[in-house]
Amino acid sequence: MDRAHVESDLDLEQTLYTEDQIRDRLREMAVRIESDYAGREILLVGVLKGAVMVMADLARAIDRHVEMDWMAISSYGSGTKSSGVVRILKDLDTDIAGRDVLIVEDIIDTGLTLSWLVANLRSRGPASVEIATLLRKPDALQMEVDVKYVGFDIPNAFVVGYGLDYSERYRNLRCIGTLAEHVYT
Ligand code: 5GP
Ligand code: MG
Ligand code: MG
Repeated sequence: MDRAHVESDLDLEQTLYTEDQIRDRLREMAVRIESDYAGREILLVGVLKGAVMVMADLARAIDRHVEMDWMAISSYGSGTKSSGVVRILKDLDTDIAGRDVLIVEDIIDTGLTLSWLVANLRSRGPASVEIATLLRKPDALQMEVDVKYVGFDIPNAFVVGYGLDYSERYRNLRCIGTLAEHVYT
């Protein structure tokens, strides 16, 4: 299919990862996940809305039974950085006591939201809580929680696509990229 004329593609300055690169990397992550969780059934927990694409593709790349559940949280912050003060907008439907929980994220920047989420989920008595993220920014390396599965470490730039938005747009891009100047101005 010729996708050269997709409207939102015109707003990209640079493509960081193509659809194929994302798919290949998720498959590599899935292979590790399959072997790390051999004999255990994973509960994938996606964080809305950014993680929808990662969840859909990572879950399908894992060739084993998995369950999926979702949380929506909002973090209060000034401007583009989160503060770590979090409110649950939609909680899990699943009781995670005794379960092996794998949080699925699109991107970790400061990691403040995620640190809060990990602590919140651990307090519910799961067997384990790990994190898989497609993207990780440099500030996340200072986080106290470790991120077991990382797709790509990226520089400190604002990226969109593949679930990631700018003012709720661009989530439907198949690739991940940076926005052109004219979009912000
Ligand atoms: P953290 O608590 O790790 O600082 O914030 C993570 C959240 O901030 C992500 O789930 C995402 O919603 C948003 N975010 C951080 N960096 C980016 C980025 O480069 N692009 C987009 N679209 N969202 C980002
Ligand atoms: Mg997210
Ligand atoms: Mg956003």
